Amino acid sequence: MEVGFLGLGIMGKAMAANLLRHGFRVTVWNRTLSKCEELVAMGATVGDTPVAVVAKCKYTIAMLSDPSAALSVVFDKDGVLEQIGEGKGYVDMSTVDAATSCKISEAVKQKGGAFVEAPVSGSKKPAEDGQLVILAAGDKALYDDMVPAFDVLGKRSFFLGEIGNGAKMKLVVNMIMGSMMNAFSEGLCLADKSGLSPQTLLDVLDLGAVANPMFKMKGPSMLQGSYNPAFPLKHQQKDMRLALSLGDETAVAMPVAAAANEAFKKARSLGLGDLDFSAVHEVLKGAGGSA
Ligand code: NAP
Repeated sequence: MEVGFLGLGIMGKAMAANLLRHGFRVTVWNRTLSKCEELVAMGATVGDTPVAVVAKCKYTIAMLSDPSAALSVVFDKDGVLEQIGEGKGYVDMSTVDAATSCKISEAVKQKGGAFVEAPVSGSKKPAEDGQLVILAAGDKALYDDMVPAFDVLGKRSFFLGEIGNGAKMKLVVNMIMGSMMNAFSEGLCLADKSGLSPQTLLDVLDLGAVANPMFKMKGPSMLQGSYNPAFPLKHQQKDMRLALSLGDETAVAMPVAAAANEAFKKARSLGLGDLDFSAVHEVLKGAGGSA
């Protein structure tokens, strides 16, 4: 199967590499073209522009940072829309809001193409290991065509029906995750300030009902103040913002998420946006939580 791949950031690079490893023929494009080199060494071909990739491939996947990047790659000059049409499919796996996804879907359909949104749950390591959870919606026939690729990229894929449902599911998941990260960080600070060992807190948490892979993976590096980005904080804050906006639309009160969003915003203002989202710990420590 031949696929195009637009966007070789932390996630896109790992996902495109996985497809290559599993025998897919992959044509890649990235805004910063030099990032394509590593994939070329693995056997990928490069397209100079998004439109060049779509012209070459029946199916094109995108993994871009946010709504503005997702829209730009489709609607701008040399964008996806210039070549999408009958017999071609476009699959956007970026985390965006439902309105962005609907806008892209309508434009692709108007040109005669098919569109699926398919944001993912899981971070850098699951992307490398093909263990993502894929939250797809939109054109069912295109979804069915993409199953061989989704099987390589993920451990499970859900088809959630109409466009927007994948985006919304992803935002709900990440809203919960961002709130959990803040509660976790506050707990580490509280243990420390109360004269307890934060490391012992990690051990205790890991044995109880709130044990989870995120606390287990992020806890030790947070205690060391080490925030190598797997999921950049600026993207977590974008997801909180989009989830809160969904809460506005649906009149769902989300005071916990709103407070967590403020901490992520503060972290961004301190220049921590490109670090891992667990760097929000620095904000909570700075607020008097820990030495
Ligand atoms: P990333 O490392 O920051 O990569 C972002 C990608 O988007 C890069 O390829 C970047 O190109 C491209 N891009 C940004 N603005 C653009 C624009 N205006 N036009 C064209 N390309 C543009 O992000 P990531 O961690 O891979 O995340 C990608 C998406 O997956 C995001 O929506 C994120 O929320 C979501 N996600 C991430 C994770 C995670 O753990 N990292 C997990 C699940 C979902 P350049 O290289 O030129 O900057």
